Amino acid sequence: MYRVGKEELAEVKKVIDAGKMFMFGDPASGHQQEVARFEREWAEKIGVKHALCVTSGTGALLCSLAALGIGPGDEVIVPSYTFMASAASVLMMGAIPVICDVDETCLMDPEDVERKMGPNVKAIIPVHMVGMPCDMDRIMTIAEKHDVKVIEDSCQCDGGSYKGKRTGSIGHVGAFSFNDYKILSSGEGGAFVTNDENLYQREMIFGDSGASFRAYAKDLTIAPFVGMQLRQTEVHAAILRIQLTRLEGILADLRRIKARIMKELDGAPGIRFIPSNDIEGDCGVVAAFSFDTVEQAIDFAKAEGVGGYRPGVMEKHVYSMWGPILEKRVGHHPDMNPYNNPKNRGLRMDVTRDMLPKSLDILKRTVFVNLHTDWTDEEVAKRIAAFAKAGEQVSATPEPMR
Ligand SMILES: *Cc1c(COP(=O)(O)O)cnc(C)c1O
Repeated sequence: MYRVGKEELAEVKKVIDAGKMFMFGDPASGHQQEVARFEREWAEKIGVKHALCVTSGTGALLCSLAALGIGPGDEVIVPSYTFMASAASVLMMGAIPVICDVDETCLMDPEDVERKMGPNVKAIIPVHMVGMPCDMDRIMTIAEKHDVKVIEDSCQCDGGSYKGKRTGSIGHVGAFSFNDYKILSSGEGGAFVTNDENLYQREMIFGDSGASFRAYAKDLTIAPFVGMQLRQTEVHAAILRIQLTRLEGILADLRRIKARIMKELDGAPGIRFIPSNDIEGDCGVVAAFSFDTVEQAIDFAKAEGVGGYRPGVMEKHVYSMWGPILEKRVGHHPDMNPYNNPKNRGLRMDVTRDMLPKSLDILKRTVFVNLHTDWTDEEVAKRIAAFAKAGEQVSATPEPMR
């Protein structure tokens, strides 16, 4: 979360004063229609026909998989660097995640996606990590060629874009998160988006416990089935509608800071920024540096005034640290663990800590520095000076013996 204030409080007060916190209600009785309004506003912002508000980003991923009918017998390609939820949601739906490499962008490597294609792959989940857009052109081309679906995990990229289109609107479905670590926040929250009417209806049914008794049920063209309960509250949506008004300001500030850092350090000794699939669409969540060696990355990250971290050691964000998945401990009941399901026999279930050395090497040679919307120009200048000094120091370090 970057910004929150009295504006959110005022909107929450209206919901409480009306005494209508459930997402459905009659406007004639004072119901504020916050969820319904946010869904329309979010769909418009992202540039899709439909958006549905859910309780979390994980919920939005579950809805995405359910909408696409993914389950036992199916493989879904996920990147080696993402929050564990991207892979965990595939497992919770009974399917098997096949983990692919990232490239120097730290995002899904389209070449490895192509290599990992197979007869059981039903979907690909590109994940736009730390506000950085994936190579969607190549991913969509591969998906079309192999006739598989694309679920964009845009949980860390609320409002980001790729070649002029918002992330989440490019694949068949998209998932967003509004938990407290994300660009917009209502504490917890998420959204599912799609342009497809059928997927929209399936999500609506899955995320609203069958939806069969809702007022809109009469408009559904497919038969309701039993699902989960992932509805969002009016309180959360009231917060999100204000958060949405802050989005462009947050992005403009983060992007301005990132652009200044990259411009002023262009060509500086020891400094190299990771490549981007679309720097204009990048949200500016982090400044991202790449080094030749792991040692240089470690030294740079901890140098005075840098405040960096290496994505390669982020617990739960790199496949090699997804303990429960490595040990195949999934779900609450052994018969619901997809690794035990006979339907998944023959799928690619092996996950070992060292199976993707290229990913581990890249992620350990990369340093991220979180950027903040409230940094003053002086603060940014101080950071730039610290990066420059640290860059000089690491470039002077002799190459380690190999
Ligand atoms: C945060 C996050 C999620 C899950 O979102 P929640 O709202 O915490 O459920 C999924 N994928 C990625 C990449 C995330 O960063």
